[in-house]
Amino acid sequence: MYRTHNNGELRSEHINETVTLSGWVQKTRNKGFMIWVDLRDRYGITQLIFDEERTTQEVMKIASELGREFVIQVTGKVIERESKNPNMPTGDIEILVSELILLNESLTPPFTIEDETDGGEDVRMKYRYLDIRRNPVRENLVFRHTVTMAVRNYLSGKNFVEVETPYLIKSTPEGARDFVVPSRMNEGQFYALPQSPQTFKQLLMVGGMDRYFQIVKCFRDEDLRADRQPEFTQIDCEMAFVEQEDILQTFEGLTRHLLKEIKGVEIGEFPRMTYDDAMRTYGNDKPDIRFGMKFGELNEVAQHRNFNVFNAAELVVGIAVPGANSFTRKEIDKLIDWVKRPQIGALGMVYCRCNEDGTYKSSVDKFYDQEDLARWAEATGAQPGDLICVLSGDTNKVRAQLSALRMELAERLGLRKPDEFAPLWVVDFPLLEWDEETERFHAMHHPFTSPKPGQMELLRTQPGDVKANAYDLVLNGNEIGGGSIRIHDKEIQSKMFDYLGFSEEEAKAQFGFLMDAFQYGAPPHGGIAFGLDRLVAILGGQETIRDFIAFPKNNAGRDVMIDAPAPIDEAQLQELNLQLNL
Ligand code: ASP
Repeated sequence: MYRTHNNGELRSEHINETVTLSGWVQKTRNKGFMIWVDLRDRYGITQLIFDEERTTQEVMKIASELGREFVIQVTGKVIERESKNPNMPTGDIEILVSELILLNESLTPPFTIEDETDGGEDVRMKYRYLDIRRNPVRENLVFRHTVTMAVRNYLSGKNFVEVETPYLIKSTPEGARDFVVPSRMNEGQFYALPQSPQTFKQLLMVGGMDRYFQIVKCFRDEDLRADRQPEFTQIDCEMAFVEQEDILQTFEGLTRHLLKEIKGVEIGEFPRMTYDDAMRTYGNDKPDIRFGMKFGELNEVAQHRNFNVFNAAELVVGIAVPGANSFTRKEIDKLIDWVKRPQIGALGMVYCRCNEDGTYKSSVDKFYDQEDLARWAEATGAQPGDLICVLSGDTNKVRAQLSALRMELAERLGLRKPDEFAPLWVVDFPLLEWDEETERFHAMHHPFTSPKPGQMELLRTQPGDVKANAYDLVLNGNEIGGGSIRIHDKEIQSKMFDYLGFSEEEAKAQFGFLMDAFQYGAPPHGGIAFGLDRLVAILGGQETIRDFIAFPKNNAGRDVMIDAPAPIDEAQLQELNLQLNL
């Protein structure tokens, strides 16, 4: 038996018991006549003591040669510690070792296995298995497990069945590129890895599995953005015989359950906001509503003077930054530089100080009088002591810019509190989205999303105005889930493919199986998928999803530990009938 107890377990009530422990050497302290070793495993650290008088010479010798991360097994007696350590759960006791077995040696680790390690990101990624020995990383993985168990239990308790769907499939259109896998046995043919199990879960509904979920890997070959992973995990769900309201209720329930179980936070009804309102009020379809700074549109109160910058703009819009009248001129100039950075792309920023005495001082006083500025304050909800920041230009661009500024300021002002949770449903998404590159409309969600009842006709005349039965669940400014009610009528689905520019043949080749299935009694259905990695990170009060993935890829999509992707050898290429054209 390698161990009778783990290293986090022993307390003073175990004193005088003989125990066997196994683990890694965290550190040793050698005074010659006495040696102390901190023994670590997943559960904690226990102090071992070896002393000349009570330990055999042979054991003393092995103990004196132990290095960091050596794997050992010891047997000994639990004794009371002379100097207790109240900061350690096992700090009242130590083990007087009588037997020591060296199970394995270790090279000196390239970084210290401690909460505050000296290892940089890169080296920790390369030796991820060592990083996992550190408390913060291990705790994150355990936390992820706790969340997934809570999800499974909740959904299972609501009659959802977890069904696995295949990974070697045909392209699913979720708006990214597919990762493809060549088929050895079918020359010139390829599987695609699922961007999501979308079509399969819909087929499960046709199959009568009216409540499905799956905690599932999805693969999207996207240009990498910070904190995106080419493979990520979704909590994928689908329900039959439901309307949008049923889905919102069910997954509001799941989210509420998680917040309560995991964070001890009780949340009432989730607020709902239409996509249009979210864009108008926050410039963003995933607003963080833990704080205000709502957009105030200023066209009416700012386009009546000779200020051409505003007069030429499609939208003039501002936010009142609470208490920011205290910003110095220098700080404001820095803020202006910030919005002018290429990543944000604003041409400039107008500001207006709201003084405590009720007067205003703006950067455009030449054009606007106190009365004008008072109306700006009214439109943005500014109070004395606030600073109004105003951007102008093309509606979509300006909204995105001001939204970025709003988030940045909230961050700086400490308004994005990790222990506060503000979920929000954003509903009534547009069905279609204009794509500048291809100069045509694309499905905003995916081509299986159903338009709102009665809106199919609008497709021909005002396609951009058609709203979908599509919804996102937003938590603290992050989209944590998104889904829709699906089309379940074959005719409507083929019209949709047609509208989206699929020829009949293409639609048949790509989605014939779904269209076929729809001929055999497809029930009304809809669903949602949550991004598990992000959800776990947010519940864990952190922003980086990588910290909650056991073996993540870096920002360039590489696994630096196993060194993938990597070339394959000629024989393998030949077997796959592939030729490299490098
Ligand atoms: N398949 C969708 C996605 O991955 C989610 C859904 O519509 O249920 O975003």
